[in-house]
Amino acid sequence: MKRCNIVRVLFSKVQAKVLETLGDRCAALWNAANFRCRRAFLKGEPVPSYATLCAEFQGHPAYKALPSDIAQEVLKKLRKAWNSFFALLRLWKEGKLEKRPGLPRYWKDRRTGKRLVKLIPVKSPRSYSLDARTLSLTLPKDLRDGNSRLVLHTKGILRFHGAPKTLELRYDRAKKRWYAHQVVEIPEPARKTRPEKYAALDLGARVLAALAIEGLNRQILFSGRKIWKDFLYWTKRIAEEQSRLNRAGRKTSRQLRRLYQVRARRLRHAFIALAAEVVRVLKRHRVTTLFLEDLTGIREDMDFGPKNLLVHNFWAFRMLRNLIEAACARAGIRVVPVEPRGTSSRCAVCGSPVKRLVRHRAVCERCGRVWHADANATVNILHLGSSKGHGAEATPQKPLALRWNRHRWVSRFESAAGTPKATSGSRMAARAA
Ligand SMILES: [Zn+2]
Repeated sequence: MKRCNIVRVLFSKVQAKVLETLGDRCAALWNAANFRCRRAFLKGEPVPSYATLCAEFQGHPAYKALPSDIAQEVLKKLRKAWNSFFALLRLWKEGKLEKRPGLPRYWKDRRTGKRLVKLIPVKSPRSYSLDARTLSLTLPKDLRDGNSRLVLHTKGILRFHGAPKTLELRYDRAKKRWYAHQVVEIPEPARKTRPEKYAALDLGARVLAALAIEGLNRQILFSGRKIWKDFLYWTKRIAEEQSRLNRAGRKTSRQLRRLYQVRARRLRHAFIALAAEVVRVLKRHRVTTLFLEDLTGIREDMDFGPKNLLVHNFWAFRMLRNLIEAACARAGIRVVPVEPRGTSSRCAVCGSPVKRLVRHRAVCERCGRVWHADANATVNILHLGSSKGHGAEATPQKPLALRWNRHRWVSRFESAAGTPKATSGSRMAARAA
C-alpha cells in the first residue's frame, strides 16, 4: 500500500530563489499545456493524452527549462486533473452533483494575474534523494552553481519506510514554507490468523462515530458537539475576514488562507485522535473485521448545525472516513463498507420498529427497550455485517460517551476530574449519553 511522508524543507536565501524559479517554470509549463487542453475541450475536440502532451511539448521552452523528470511529472499531473474533471462531469450529468465542475485551473494569482508557484513534482527517486536530514534534487543546467544537485535540509520524521515513489515539493503560501511530500510503497501488514471477531462503526454528525463490538454489551459514542462548535468558531472568523476583504474590494488574503488552514487542521487533529482511539479499542478486543456504514446515513442528520454547516463541508466526513480506514489498515484490521438499510428504524435486540422520541432517543415498540439511536444503529450494522441476525442479547447498557477536550477523547468522568468546572457543552454531551 502507498503511504506519504511529509517533511518541512529548510532553505537559504539563494536556495529560496532556486526553488522559486523551478516552481515558476513548472507553473509556466502547466499553464501552457493547460491552455492547449482547455482550447481542445472548448472546441469539442478530444483533450490530448499524457503521451500526446509529452510529444507536443517536448520542444517547448518551458519543458526544456526543466529536468525531464520534473517536466513529465507536471504534464502527468495536468492530465490527472483533467481525468478527475471528466469523472466529476459524468457525475454532474447523472445529477449526482449540484454544481457543474469547473475546468482545471491555471496556476496564477487571480488578483495580480501573475504565475503562481505551487509545487514541483519529481517523478522518480532517480532524480531526488530524501533521508532523515536532507533532500537533494537534480537541477536544470542553467541553475547549476558548480553543483549539479540542490541539497536542502529537512525537518520532520520519515514515518514510513519502503520503496520510494514520486515526490512533490509543495509551497504553502499561508506559511511561506516548502514541504516535501514523498510517496512510499510499503508492504501490507501481515494479518494474523485469529478467530474472526466483528465490530461496527456508524458515522454521523451529532454523534461522529458510534462503535459496537461483538460480545460487548456497551457501545462507545464519540460526540461531535465540541468539534462542530470549534469548527463554527473558525467559520465565523473566516466570514469576518471575507467581509473585511469585500469592503476592500479583494477576494483573498494570506490571513484568509491561514484561517482556512487552521480550521481544517483543528478538525483533522480531532479526527486523527478519534481514529487512533477506535483502533486502540478494536485491538484491545482483538477485532479482525470492522463494518463501516457508508456516509449516506449522514443526510438524515443534515439539519444539524446552523446554516447547514455540514452540507457545505461534506469533505470533513470523507476525511474522517479515510483516516479511520487508514488507521485500521495499519493495524491489520479489515474494513468492510456496508449500506445502511433501515439500521436506525429497527430495534437491535428484537428487530421490531422503533419510535424516535426526541432526536437521539429511540424506543422499541415491542420490547420497550430505550436506545440511544446511534448505538442502536451501530448494533444493527454489526448484525447485518456478521449476518448473525438479531441475537438474544441482554438489555443494552448505557453507551459510553466520549467527548473531545482538544487533546484527547475522554469520558465525562475523566473530564470532570480534569476540569473542575464543567461547561454547558459537556453537560449536554453527558445528557445525550
Ligand atoms: Zn425490541
